[in-house]
Amino acid sequence: MNYAARVERVEPSATLAVSNLAKELEAEGEDVVDLSVGEPDFDTPEHIKAAANEAMQAGETGYAPSNGIPALREAIAEKLQGDGMAYESDNIIVTPGAKQALFEAFQTLVDDGDEVVLLDPAWVSYEAQAKIAGADLTRIDLGPYDFQLEPALDDLAEAVSDETEMLVVNSPSNPTGAVYSRAAMEGVRDLAVEHDVTVIADEIYQHINYGREHVSLSTLDGMYERTVTINGFSKAYAMTGWRLGYLAAPEGLIDQAGKIQSHSVSSAVNFVQHAGVAALEETDDEIDEMVDAFENRRDLLLELFDEHDVDVPHPDGAFYMMVPVDDDDQEWATNALRDAKVATVPGSAFGTPGYVRISYAASAERLEEAVERLTDAGYL
Ligand code: PMP
Ligand code: GLU
Repeated sequence: MNYAARVERVEPSATLAVSNLAKELEAEGEDVVDLSVGEPDFDTPEHIKAAANEAMQAGETGYAPSNGIPALREAIAEKLQGDGMAYESDNIIVTPGAKQALFEAFQTLVDDGDEVVLLDPAWVSYEAQAKIAGADLTRIDLGPYDFQLEPALDDLAEAVSDETEMLVVNSPSNPTGAVYSRAAMEGVRDLAVEHDVTVIADEIYQHINYGREHVSLSTLDGMYERTVTINGFSKAYAMTGWRLGYLAAPEGLIDQAGKIQSHSVSSAVNFVQHAGVAALEETDDEIDEMVDAFENRRDLLLELFDEHDVDVPHPDGAFYMMVPVDDDDQEWATNALRDAKVATVPGSAFGTPGYVRISYAASAERLEEAVERLTDAGYL
């Protein structure tokens, strides 16, 4: 068969590839500490499961309206309005996972040869989705700035021009855990307005934030009309397997992206959307508990790395940190999995070699075990 150029120019997801490898080793009887994939180790809260069961029993098992059931679109609009955003339910498309929301945004906005700017290290699927859409990538390295955006604004200003179609901003960030300051976001706004750039604001880690201000780009003057806000239920609500996310944008984009949704996935799963309504309405306490646990684990890991004189750029959110390792991070990660049975994702998968990403959505015991194994095997 002849494969299309658009698939041949991308690699499989590195995060999922390492996690698959770790699962294979486990199936062979190995005890792997899997710090690769970004997935909460908590189960979905009971009231969300109950709402899905109830909806299923009530017969909500057929096709749903393509852009989402009205109750969920309204609940999402209300949530976003509570966060200071101007979206109504007509501005929402409910998708099977935030990944699909991003995919629809890239497909809707990016033509062959359009310039898309990423802030490195950037989550693996931005690069792949941009390339599938035909983009030419420009990458800004936040590495020299401890992964913060504010000190990198001059670099960004040099890169962004009238030729730039799109900029992707993800705060709190996967894979660094950085939370970008208001001044950084205002700097992005100034450039986006000056050069008429569309910004994807991926806010999927919004709630996993240990006390820094979360700034939603679409709330800034001049940004509503040029922002696509992405969010979802996987992380804060521990619902990775349910596949539920959304995009929010001006209606013109909804009309266009809605075509892709209706011709591809049709809709997110009907009864899962009903569970999404319950998730948005009643999960504050569980989110607080999970976020407290993530923060304690972040503190524990930073302390353990500090004891080994490993200087980790301080993460303020999400459940990731980038740990400096050898220049050849791919080899480091492969060998650490082989020798210490600890799974991490090489930084080069995110555009930043010399680091590995650790997802600390694992119990304190497993995190301690990981550091101990890496120390014993000579990796720390
Ligand atoms: N954005 C970021 C930054 C992510 O880390 C993820 C993780 N999968 C997603 C989007 C997509 O999440 P999901 O498709 O599970 O909603
Ligand atoms: N986003 C998570 C991660 O980066 C889940 C896997 C994926 O979708 O890439 O590990």
